[in-house]
Amino acid sequence: MPLRRPVLLLLAVAGLSCGPSAPPARTAASATAAPGAAALARSHALRWVRGSAEYRAVAVETYRAALAAVERASAGRPAGSWAVSVDADETIIDNSQYEVELEEKGETVTDATWRAWVKRRERPAVPGAAAFLEGVRRLGGRVAVVSNTSESLRGDLAANLDSLGLPYDVLLCRPDGGDERKESRWKAVADGTARPGLGPLEILVWVGDNIQDFPGQGQELRRRPESAYAEFGVRWFVIPNPIYGSWEKSPPD
Ligand SMILES: [Mg+2]
Repeated sequence: MPLRRPVLLLLAVAGLSCGPSAPPARTAASATAAPGAAALARSHALRWVRGSAEYRAVAVETYRAALAAVERASAGRPAGSWAVSVDADETIIDNSQYEVELEEKGETVTDATWRAWVKRRERPAVPGAAAFLEGVRRLGGRVAVVSNTSESLRGDLAANLDSLGLPYDVLLCRPDGGDERKESRWKAVADGTARPGLGPLEILVWVGDNIQDFPGQGQELRRRPESAYAEFGVRWFVIPNPIYGSWEKSPPD
């Protein structure tokens, strides 16, 4: 059985997607669930990501579909004129070991524990990510990693990506204390100001584990009809993350 964390610790757990400098409060899985049920739900989510064939299959199939979409969208475009946007945490790199260690120690997500984890530079790749990024490069595309990791941890993230052999052309982190929204960073990629020498790039495909990894999107999408999801599976591709995310702040129906 996975270890269970006391609910009081769960209530204090913060959002990893920010690479938190001042971690926002992370809520229990359900505001109405009994404390034990919330902790168990969270442990099960972690167990599914780390221990199921289904998680690996979904990640690989999502990246495979994303690469097919890139191949279609890039046909006829000059090499070096287009890009894909990928998020980092729980999209191309896997922080689940951090969660396991917190559970084992009975600790919470804090800026100190998060920074220590990132600085170990031991995070593995998400299944399918390497093949996708290599495929994009082979087709003549550029890779923009657009992450909410704090700028002060950029060197550690970059070294971790390099050690995994995950190729990228530009890594855009969140300025410490800056905007979590990614629109300004995508605009920099499009304008050619994201990195000297890179030039303007049209982003053709986005991959992320958080709805905010997709332009103009937020949890309000949940209440919209299926027609509002037209870009998913076409230009936008979601890697499942049942452990944490902006969905935790969204009230259940
Ligand atoms: Mg993420």
